[in-house]
Amino acid sequence: MKKAVFPGSFDPITLGHVDIIKRAIPLFDEIVIAIGVNAEKKYMFSLNERVAFIKKCFADEKNITVTKYKGLTVDYCKTIDADFILRGLRNPADFEFEKAIAQTNRKLSGIETVFLLTSADTSFISSSIVRDIIRNGGDASELVPKCVK
Ligand code: ADP
Repeated sequence: MKKAVFPGSFDPITLGHVDIIKRAIPLFDEIVIAIGVNAEKKYMFSLNERVAFIKKCFADEKNITVTKYKGLTVDYCKTIDADFILRGLRNPADFEFEKAIAQTNRKLSGIETVFLLTSADTSFISSSIVRDIIRNGGDASELVPKCVK
């Protein structure tokens, strides 16, 4: 059984995340979208809101679940028996950042990170840009799934 964890902040989930998740569905038997809880980080949306957005978005996908976790992603993967971490890559900065984390995670745990390259039409989208638009009273509806609108 191929189980992958897609870890992230999802503050909020965007069309970029949705694209990666949908394209990963045929690759894994189960995808666990896992919201990392970091007490020192300030979020725009509460943990419950972020979970609710994602649940609503994938309500019809029986192989997708949504959870939250604290601590190291690899430790969380072990507790739920997941052998893969799923991440998206948008640009060289993502690659450099993700490379060190993925290599460290594999060293620590043997868990493989599977990267999907962003789609051309969602590559510019990030949660931080969405938050910026919302904070300044703009309309971010083109960048997020219906469940967030
Ligand atoms: P984190 O704080 O862990 O980076 P995010 O919610 O920002 O959490 O991102 C989670 C994952 O989704 C990361 O792998 C990120 O690269 C990926 N991602 C975010 N936006 C996009 C996008 N537009 N296209 C592809 N991948 C994306």
